[in-house]
Amino acid sequence: MSIMKGKKGLIMGVANERSIAWGIAKTLTDNGAELAFSYQNESFRKRLMPLMSSIKSDKCFECDVSNATSGLNSIENMFEKIQKQWNEIDFVVHALAYSDKEELKGKYVNCSRENFLNSLDISAFSFTRIAKSALPLMSLKGGSLLTLSYLGAERTTPNYNVMGVAKSALEASIKYLAMDLGKNNIRVNALSAGPVKTLAGAAISGARHVFRYSENAAPLKFNPQLKEVGSAALYLTSELSSGVTGNIHHVDGGLHSVAIPKQENFV
Ligand code: NAD
Repeated sequence: MSIMKGKKGLIMGVANERSIAWGIAKTLTDNGAELAFSYQNESFRKRLMPLMSSIKSDKCFECDVSNATSGLNSIENMFEKIQKQWNEIDFVVHALAYSDKEELKGKYVNCSRENFLNSLDISAFSFTRIAKSALPLMSLKGGSLLTLSYLGAERTTPNYNVMGVAKSALEASIKYLAMDLGKNNIRVNALSAGPVKTLAGAAISGARHVFRYSENAAPLKFNPQLKEVGSAALYLTSELSSGVTGNIHHVDGGLHSVAIPKQENFV
């Protein structure tokens, strides 16, 4: 298939072959997209290289989204480099988040100010900075900005804590960015994925219980994985979704539509 033929995009957040970002990258490249990648630091670059060569991609940029605006390897600095190489970009996939693992257990009420600010900065505000930086590269043809969320933005889920607050901020940002950028034909959407076994997923205390519970409770009786999330990303980054923006699209086997479960059912 070549639905993405001629489309160029940036994938942010590949840590390894189990990353949601990698599942999306594989699907987009299988459908003809030309991809560039960002990596957080040197150790992530080493893991990314073999994956990139497996799909014959050769463009990557170091970017730690917590770096100050216009600092070295910041979001803004990376988009300047991309503009020099590509001039334009059709889509950006933001599949990254961070919170101190020690606060992804126990009660949210104990969240520290430092981790609250850091989690919101990396997991939510980074997407707004990306949207602002991508705008000049999408100004002629428009484009698609896509991020990743989770049910914990809408409801309390055990141990998700400050990450749920960050995802709520991210989901609200999608709507405001969709409004701001709609006149430029830039669409802004999120995929709210069910639990996927990744490094970030494993950082949440009791993750395997949530995984098992979600699988049983979801109408489809399975937790969608990289293939299903990748297919939904193909829809939201391509012309197939040309009329869709400000949307949170659930790829969770239907779990979000089930009556709110008791927290103890998760464990
Ligand atoms: P992952 O561990 O494979 O990827 C997380 C990525 O975040 C890594 O590549 C890491 O380098 C990057 N990152 C963290 N801090 C960063 C920083 N300061 N600068 C740049 N990059 C940084 O995990 P994943 O599960 O694939 O996570 C991708 C996205 O999907 C996240 O937003 C996550 O919240 C979301 N998500 C995950 C699940 C799940 O169950 N795994 C479910 C729904 C949504």
